[in-house]
Order: sequence, then structure tokens, then C-alpha cells
Amino acid sequence: MPREWISGSVILFLLIACGQPLQDVKGVEVETQLLSDYNISRDYSNSNTLQKILDDINCSVSSVVHKKLVVADSFTPRDTSQILLVPFISNGHVFKSSAYADVTNRFILINLRYIREFATKNTLNDTTAFVPLVELMLLHEIGHFMLHAAGSFDNLDSGVSTLGQQENPSTTPEYLTTVKKIELSADSLAIDLIRKQLKSQHYECLNIAFDVERLLPGMQFQLSGTRMIEKFGARDVNFLHDPSNDHPNMELRVTFMNYFLFPSDAQKKMIDDYIYDRTVAPVHEQELDPKIFQGKTKNLPESTK
Ligand SMILES: [Zn+2]
Repeated sequence: MPREWISGSVILFLLIACGQPLQDVKGVEVETQLLSDYNISRDYSNSNTLQKILDDINCSVSSVVHKKLVVADSFTPRDTSQILLVPFISNGHVFKSSAYADVTNRFILINLRYIREFATKNTLNDTTAFVPLVELMLLHEIGHFMLHAAGSFDNLDSGVSTLGQQENPSTTPEYLTTVKKIELSADSLAIDLIRKQLKSQHYECLNIAFDVERLLPGMQFQLSGTRMIEKFGARDVNFLHDPSNDHPNMELRVTFMNYFLFPSDAQKKMIDDYIYDRTVAPVHEQELDPKIFQGKTKNLPESTK
């Protein structure tokens, strides 16, 4: 996580420390402080769409979690059930992120433009996938609140590794570290919220569940299919690797979510094979890779000489 993002975690405390009692702090003031602290701008587009999404999300999770997503106008800092949602535009070209949840200070930053861009490229039904994708992202962020575990910056990533081919030879295993498992856990909780909703009798709150049900299968197909077509014939192993040290790649995350929502033996085998190919297979490849034993100097540990 970039350094400038860490300072935001003390924002509420800063406002209070500046002499304002918590009950007097306004939601808009908190938002303004956040925007300034993170060097981002408020995104005023899609306001009506966003409000509709928040209404649906709050409706669908209210029976499971005592949390409510609100925008700044409705945010009351002293109400600990509220989570402030700030739609933002990045001020920098380099900075590309989709969402971030600060569990301690109860806010979520969300980059709708970035999510729209991702939806256009990585889902089957382009424009209509935007809303379900935002909903899925928000459920994932609520998952972080349920886990009481902040994530790193949540980036929708279509899989191009930032780690580089050189660092990812076929002999390097890619493990699901503790940090990555937090992301998968938040994904699982998001899907669990959907499953609970589908089983409940609250028919008026099913919009989110239906949207995500429509989104996931096509998204898995599109993400995996595109990667295969783009890399067809190439001896590229990066699809087995993750785009960063804190998030598993999107193909794996979406396939996991799809499996939790629509369990099948075929999906399970696909995931098992994929995990095997990125963790166990590279270790076996080390045994067969002659490069392991070549080089100008043989630099083996003492015990193996
Ligand atoms: Zn996350």
C-alpha cells in the first residue's frame, strides 16, 4: 500500500483532535478531509445509479450484518453501523485502483470509472455489467468489514503481472499467502451474502443476488478465455502468477466465487488443477530444469555439497 494511503486511517481522529466533538463532525467534512489526504477528487457522476446500488446493497445485507453504506450527505460519524462511501477520481495517471476499505475508520473509497473501464474489457455484456461489478466490489469490501481485516488496495486486474517475466520462471511456485487469503476470504463472504439472500424470504432485496448471479459465469469465461487467446501458443507462465504480492489474480478469484455460487465437480477440478499448476508443478520442474545445476559457480547450501 502506498505510504500516502496510510495517513488516511487517522482521519476521523484528526478531525476530533482538532477540537470538534464527534457528534458535530459532518459527513461532508470527513469526505473532504479524506479526498485531500489521499489526493483524490470526488466523482459526482453516476450519483443516481450509485444511490440505487447502495439502497439495494443495504437491503440485501441488513439481515446478516449491522452495516449500512452511505454517501457523505447521509453519513453520521457517531453512528458506528454506517460506512462512508466515497466515489473518487484518481488525480494521478499512475495510480489505478478500484476500491479500498478502511475498516477502523469506516470508509470505502471506490473508483467507478476504473470499474466501468474494467467491465467493458472483461465481461461478456459490457455496459450492463458495470452495476453488478460495482455491487460485487462493494460486497467484497463489506466482507473486509465482516472479517475485521483491511485489505490492500483492491485492484481489478485482468492479470498482467507487474512482477515481470524474469521474476516468474516456470520453476517459481506462486503460493496463496496469508494476505492473499484475506482477499479470497472477503470474496467468499461476499458470495455467502448472496447465497443467504437467495435463500431468504426477502424477495424485495434480491436485486443484488440476481445481478451477481448473472455477472460471474460470463466474467469467468471472458477473463480466462481472453487470457488463453492472447497467450495462445506462447510459452508464458504468467497466467499462473498473481499481479501483486497482496492479491490473487482475477481469474482465480472469479473462478473461486463462481464455484461458491454454482458448485460443480468440473469447477472444483479446474481450481484444483490451477492451484497444482502454480504451486506444486513448479517445484517438480525445478528437479528437471538443467539450469538449476548450471552457471559459473555452483552455489549450493553447505549441507548439499
Ligand atoms: Zn479486498
